[in-house]
Amino acid sequence: MKAVVLTETNKLVVEERPMPTREADEVILRVRAAGICGSDVPRVFAGKVYHFPLVLGHEFAGEVVDAENPALIGTHAAVFPLLPCRKCAMCAEEEYPLCADYDYYGSRRDGAMEEYLAVKVWNLIPAPEGLSFEEAAMCEPAAVARHAVMRANLKGGERVLVFGAGPIGLMLGQWAMSMGAASVAYADIDERKLAFAEQMGFTRQAEGERYDVVIEGAGAPSALQGAIAAAEPFGRLVLMGNAARDMDIPQPVYQQILRKQLTLSGTWNSSYNSRINDWKAALEAMASGALNAKALITHTYPLEETRAAFDLMGDRKEFFNKVMIVM
Ligand SMILES: [Zn+2]
Ligand SMILES: [Zn+2]
Repeated sequence: MKAVVLTETNKLVVEERPMPTREADEVILRVRAAGICGSDVPRVFAGKVYHFPLVLGHEFAGEVVDAENPALIGTHAAVFPLLPCRKCAMCAEEEYPLCADYDYYGSRRDGAMEEYLAVKVWNLIPAPEGLSFEEAAMCEPAAVARHAVMRANLKGGERVLVFGAGPIGLMLGQWAMSMGAASVAYADIDERKLAFAEQMGFTRQAEGERYDVVIEGAGAPSALQGAIAAAEPFGRLVLMGNAARDMDIPQPVYQQILRKQLTLSGTWNSSYNSRINDWKAALEAMASGALNAKALITHTYPLEETRAAFDLMGDRKEFFNKVMIVM
């Protein structure tokens, strides 16, 4: 089978590898779609990985072709990429993304940019009838977006502002609208992303407008400062964007957090447990039409052209939203 292997910084090699074997608690998944995450770009171009060689791909879906339980064969499923230790305090609470010692498909261990992958049965989220593999592979950004909206405790009729109009940002807006938000506006430094958000029916941030909920998804100090400034008194801020550098706040902007009595919440990954399952909710929302994941996929490439897919995202010349490998 074919695998795209990151062998060193900026080197992706299409390799022929033996078929994976599986443990009793695993299935063999024939990978059919794997999204490229923004976090994969520095993995390739800056070598920000746990180890080489590594097969990337943590946003994926496929078909079960081998399993201990024959009833699973033929199942179409998305995959929760995190493998918890099941020994730590957070695992005991089922808060798996906070696990002290987890493993992860596509970052700590090999992921989905290969034709077949052994995955744990526990990590499978079966896709509702009729959902495409491409849509199911959007489950990860959709779940992360849902979790962030839940952290905002959104109430009906509220105005929402999102910094960052990438795939997760545009999912956020869709979740917020489906949960009763009055409107969702966007701020982004990339004009093309704002135009794309408008095509989807959203607005752009209005000068001087104040918002009940502001979600910072850019991870840039200017966005954080803009988010604080744009919040209503008693507004809620959700901090989601991974910080690329120090998130400095000038003193007068900082003072607004106090004066406006803002609530700041962090958000991390998603919930995948017996109480809240953002992943299952994401696939159900796609199936019901509440969430349009398909519209966000602007580019697809076959596995052999993974290099070209990364180059598209790396050089930023052409507009893209979600870039996906299909097999
Ligand atoms: Zn991701
Ligand atoms: Zn743990």
